[in-house]
Amino acid sequence: MNFLEERIIKDGIVKEGNVLKVDSFLNHQMDISLFEQMGEEFKRRFSDKPINKILTIEASGIGIACVVAKYFNVPVVFAKKSKSINIEGEMYIAEVESFTHKCKNQVIVSKKFLNSDDKVLIIDDFLANGCALQGLISIVNEAGGTVEGIGIAIEKGFQSGGRIIRNLGYQLESLAIVESMDAANGTIQFREQ
Ligand code: 5GP
Repeated sequence: MNFLEERIIKDGIVKEGNVLKVDSFLNHQMDISLFEQMGEEFKRRFSDKPINKILTIEASGIGIACVVAKYFNVPVVFAKKSKSINIEGEMYIAEVESFTHKCKNQVIVSKKFLNSDDKVLIIDDFLANGCALQGLISIVNEAGGTVEGIGIAIEKGFQSGGRIIRNLGYQLESLAIVESMDAANGTIQFREQ
């Protein structure tokens, strides 16, 4: 088991409805030493890529993305969630269905902060069905930039997102892939990587 898998076993809580709660160290209270280990690992896995920008989505991707950005020495842009947006022209907009909140959000990025020169590493905390990632990928594509890679803290391998994104040809690196989990007895199995 790697450092993140060990931490998930120690402090993660399996909830009904295929939800893994990791709010004591990842997406509410945040363990920055753990984030630094994640940043170092993503830097290693994407060391051959000419990344000049990190893109994530609010809210829980931001903390991880900021620490990862330190290892790449590049800025972070986060897509903002907004239920209704009337501004046109200066924004890239994508529609994203939220796995945890079961609602649709428009996510927006200002055109000032993403353009065709950008070589982007997308970072997020979770990958479930892949809607958040597909929204971020479409925003990079609309900007004419390049998605150089995608780094995820926890992928739920029993949901469809990982397969969809890998089939699209992207280098998707997940630090922990949950193969199965059981809310009844709290057990979690990881995919061998
Ligand atoms: P997707 O768009 O891939 O279906 O879902 C990704 C987003 O949903 C992540 O950004 C994350 O915020 C949230 N999410 C999905 N599954 C879980 C989960 O099991 N636990 C937590 N805490 N968040 C999740």
